Amino acid sequence: MAALRHIAAMPELPEVETTVRGLEHVLRGRTISRVEARRADLRRSFPKDLGQRLTGATVTGLGRRAKYGLIHTDRNDTMVFHLGMSGSWRINHSKLEKHDHLLLETDDGTRLSLNDPRRFGSVDLVATDELGNWPAFKALGPEPLDITAEELKRRLFGRSAAIKLLLLDQRIIAGLGNIYVCEALYRAGIHPTRAGGSISLGRLKRLVPAIHDVLAEAIAAGGSTLRDFASPNGELGYFSKSFAVYDREGQPCACGGAVKRIVQGGRSTFYCPRCQR
Ligand SMILES: [Zn+2]
Repeated sequence: MAALRHIAAMPELPEVETTVRGLEHVLRGRTISRVEARRADLRRSFPKDLGQRLTGATVTGLGRRAKYGLIHTDRNDTMVFHLGMSGSWRINHSKLEKHDHLLLETDDGTRLSLNDPRRFGSVDLVATDELGNWPAFKALGPEPLDITAEELKRRLFGRSAAIKLLLLDQRIIAGLGNIYVCEALYRAGIHPTRAGGSISLGRLKRLVPAIHDVLAEAIAAGGSTLRDFASPNGELGYFSKSFAVYDREGQPCACGGAVKRIVQGGRSTFYCPRCQR
């Protein structure tokens, strides 16, 4: 029963990466011809000069840092967006919806809207050459797709907190969310309550590739949905996924045991007590 409702409630890194790749198709090299904020804020106010700074600017490239999408322009401005809990970009939608809060149009007539019913997302403009010093980015750890086992070992050194919680700490590793931490620990056979600093380099050498793989597989699954990115009402970044342990409490693991759920730091952890030590 529960196995059928496997659209993540919240956009995680793969959704943001997929969104950025979809936006890249329509934005790179284009000039933004029109900007319309249809309300003053999401989680916080839109920059007051957003329209003035983006209108007439050419998009030079896109990127991602942790769960933030980056739209770079030729004015040394980067539009930094966060999808919060329910945000998505829609491209060439046939009609505006109530929750389309920010509209962009490009010189070739492409229309984009940032839709966010719950409004936990954000949009900021940051000087491109100062991105590394932007407060939200300054303390972030390395990207999970780039980190090595040796670097993770250094970052976990002396830490007695549970590995599950340490992997969710954005200062240790940036952009990992609950789903992918559960899945990566399962694949690596590491018990989620184990003290982070006590995990050997050998075991981290299984964990880091597991992190890479769960993210890369989700990004690939999202990428396959991008073929439809230009369709009317096309919504970027959300795709169905299936998980080995996440949200599968009581269901069978491949080993024959049952998936268990515990609460750590106020959030559910799913794991297999037989496979994870
Ligand atoms: Zn198992």
